[in-house]
Amino acid sequence: MSTSQQTALVTGANKGIGFEAARQLARQGFTVWLGARDEARGEAAVKELGVDGDVRFVGLDVTDEASVRAAAQRIEEETGLDVLVNNAGVAFADGDGRPGEVDLDVLQRTFDVNVHGALRVTQAFLPLIRRSAAGRIVNVSSTLGSLGVVTSPQNPFGQLASFAYPASKTALNAITGWLAVELRDTSVKVNSVCPGSNATDMNSAGAQPASEGAKVVVHAATLPADGPTGSFLDVNGVVPW
Ligand code: NAP
Repeated sequence: MSTSQQTALVTGANKGIGFEAARQLARQGFTVWLGARDEARGEAAVKELGVDGDVRFVGLDVTDEASVRAAAQRIEEETGLDVLVNNAGVAFADGDGRPGEVDLDVLQRTFDVNVHGALRVTQAFLPLIRRSAAGRIVNVSSTLGSLGVVTSPQNPFGQLASFAYPASKTALNAITGWLAVELRDTSVKVNSVCPGSNATDMNSAGAQPASEGAKVVVHAATLPADGPTGSFLDVNGVVPW
């Protein structure tokens, strides 16, 4: 069932950038499904956002097929879906190693959430998004995943002894590019965004509040019909792949 009101799902929205993106979308009038893997944390977040608009909790662990399927069925029955924000993400402790020595267990656990999880959710919700007049898929990536930046002479990440998280964001960007091509004859837009450096549980050294990073997420979620698809965007414009 679809309503005339625009509906968005944000995964991993009980805190951090996802929480702030959910808030900003609700304030714009979206019905927002706040996805969280933990019911208590999700319901607490929904309670906090109640003043901002119509925000509803949906249980969603992106690594759990049954959880994702159940969420898709419920959202299909109750509202339909226009916007999917693949925000849920993990970054395990720094120091998992450069490619020559990376801990493969850390690599796999990172990919389970950041890549397989995002693709699992995308596949489950794609039939709903295709039915929307203005479907938008936003993959919350990172400039760390940009091979263009990493292989440039000025690479700002040269000292980073961690491969798993950046590689997962490169793979997430591959989903963006390939899916945008798959959907190029539709009105659905698929983009990656980098929210910049935000002070969250994931990034204690973050430079700005998560509410700032959420703005580019919301920008990509609300692109007009002539907006870009298959792009990698940050607050300054286009990020190289
Ligand atoms: P955060 O505060 O740690 O939030 C991460 C969210 O993802 C939490 O809600 C977490 O839920 C959820 N999550 C983790 N595993 C999950 C799973 N299996 N299923 C469902 N949800 C799951 O991190 P953040 O900084 O807001 O990051 C949000 C996104 O922005 C991530 O994709 C991250 O890579 C990206 N990003 C962040 C920065 C930054 O500077 N912070 C920069 C670039 C990109 P729990 O609370 O249950 O753990």
